[in-house]
Amino acid sequence: MTSLEKEGIKVDESFYKVININHLTKETFSIKLPKARFTFKPGQHISVGIHGNYQSREYSVYSGANDENLEVLVKEVENGYFTPRLRNLKAGDLVEIRGPFGKFGMGPKVAESGKFVFIASGTGIAPFRSMIRTYPGLDYTLIHGVRKASEAYDRHEYPSGRYVLCTSQDFKGDYQGRLTGYLKDSIFSADTQFYLCGNSSMIFDALEILRDKGFERDQIHCEVYF
Ligand SMILES: Cc1cc2nc3c(=O)[nH]c(=O)nc-3n(C[C@H](O)[C@H](O)[C@H](O)COP(=O)(O)OP(=O)(O)OC[C@H]3O[C@@H](n4cnc5c(N)ncnc54)[C@H](O)[C@@H]3O)c2cc1C
Repeated sequence: MTSLEKEGIKVDESFYKVININHLTKETFSIKLPKARFTFKPGQHISVGIHGNYQSREYSVYSGANDENLEVLVKEVENGYFTPRLRNLKAGDLVEIRGPFGKFGMGPKVAESGKFVFIASGTGIAPFRSMIRTYPGLDYTLIHGVRKASEAYDRHEYPSGRYVLCTSQDFKGDYQGRLTGYLKDSIFSADTQFYLCGNSSMIFDALEILRDKGFERDQIHCEVYF
């Protein structure tokens, strides 16, 4: 009998006990859970539910495939239904995880040989952290677009020279302005594989910029959050 069953809670393999909520900014937090009981490819997402609540939402896995804990990174959406509830979770609360889902990301062979530019807005950085933690030899540049430098989630984990912070509302980034401005000003080698993740307006604008720079559509991989 599992410890949860001893507490009279009917659960299956998909339930995880929250270890902690790590508040990174006023709105954004990561949820730390026990080690994943499924295998996933970094870049994939999972569905997160709360025990007793019928709804769920999708979140990219934030942790690496071999990490001791399963993590997701969540931004609380103003007037959103689910994210305020996730933010209020406490250690020991139960969440239900389904998945993994999706094809975003790359396998180990491609990771070893490719040259990558990761383009993320806000919490769209999550799948890239998973890829970077899973494949230590990855040749990447991570371009992260946020409003303020305080949203550079876990920046200390990325070596200098690999991470470019674009801030649109303060002067504390590596680039002052939207990440699309940085993309326009940048030169990338012809064999780059681009991975884009975040809100749809950033992704649509970035697609146009990369097309104008002459990159083929099959060099560009997208994960749209909303
Ligand atoms: C494949 C996939 C992976 C995702 N991964 C993540 C992730 O790793 N981290 C994460 O925070 N979210 C992620 N999302 C978004 C997430 O699933 C929810 O939509 C989000 O958390 C809002 O939930 P909510 O119930 O609070 O809002 P709802 O009550 O469902 O309201 C939805 C409204 O919020 C807007 N919205 C959704 N996300 C945001 C946001 N970040 N900022 C501003 N407005 C937003 C939507 O456009 C919509 O208008 C992902 C979505 C998809 C499809």
